[in-house]
Amino acid sequence: MTWRKLSETQGKVVKIITNSIRKERLSHAYLFDGPKGTGKREVALQLAKTFFCEKKDQFEPCEVCSDCKRIASGNHPDVHIIQPDGQTIKIEQIRQLKKEFSYRGMESVRKFYIIEDAEKMTTSAANGLLKFLEEPDGQSIAVLTTVEVHRILRTILSRTQIISFVPLTPLQLMENLEKDGIPKPISKLLGQLTNDLDEAYQLYHDDWIAQARGIVIQLGEEVCTRPHQVMLTLQESWLPHFKEKNQLNMGLDILLLWYRDVLRTLLATDDQLIFVDQIDKLERHALKSSQRKVSQHMADILEAKRRLNANVNPQLLMEQLMLRLQEG
Ligand SMILES: [Zn+2]
Repeated sequence: MTWRKLSETQGKVVKIITNSIRKERLSHAYLFDGPKGTGKREVALQLAKTFFCEKKDQFEPCEVCSDCKRIASGNHPDVHIIQPDGQTIKIEQIRQLKKEFSYRGMESVRKFYIIEDAEKMTTSAANGLLKFLEEPDGQSIAVLTTVEVHRILRTILSRTQIISFVPLTPLQLMENLEKDGIPKPISKLLGQLTNDLDEAYQLYHDDWIAQARGIVIQLGEEVCTRPHQVMLTLQESWLPHFKEKNQLNMGLDILLLWYRDVLRTLLATDDQLIFVDQIDKLERHALKSSQRKVSQHMADILEAKRRLNANVNPQLLMEQLMLRLQEG
């Protein structure tokens, strides 16, 4: 890993840190805040390598010395990573860390520790850590990471330099999901619906998103070619699948993406399609429609989303939407 590579996704974060390295003004405690999957751990480990490596080229660690190698393989004696033990990070874990620190000079006088999911520290663990952060000796660096910065004690916030990681772009999220073997049509859709990798995996779980997508495709097709079936599909597939309000909201988002793809097909900008494997159906839909009609239908779906937020009965709302979508 290199800082250059990390800057492709977290340019601002890398700039702040590498500037501090250049000026030899690294903070003794950082708090990395940002959604899961944004590279907080990678950046922390890269910082650890830079901190220990004696052969760095400017600020890029060499990756071949024993410090770099041991950090990469997770067994550097002066780099500690604390993760939640079950639901919480407990005071015992912080005590253990302090003990490690008291064996100064295992390898050098420097120490580096990472506390992941720091919002999960119990109050006593957080207070224990606080003493630690209050007595920096200039030879150690702490990196706390969190997805919920509002749950971190104010006293800890005030003693750390907070660095915010930006959410992944749809493309970055999609690439992450594809790397994990999630098929392209699904990962493309997930990239549009969320920028949180965790949420993406939850939606993928149990095939929920694949089924949701199938229902939207079916309904989109029926609206323009077999309108007599629409209400049946609504009753038998749509309403049972999109039970909760937030699920229905997402169903409407997917339907909106379908219509946007129809519009892109009409405009011949189909290199940006989300439903990449449904070109035949999109073209059939486009043939029966027009730019004006599709734009109207997208507005209808947005209106349905607004009414959903105003707590209109979901069944009524969907039935009315289906009637509108069938109108020329
Ligand atoms: Zn090195």
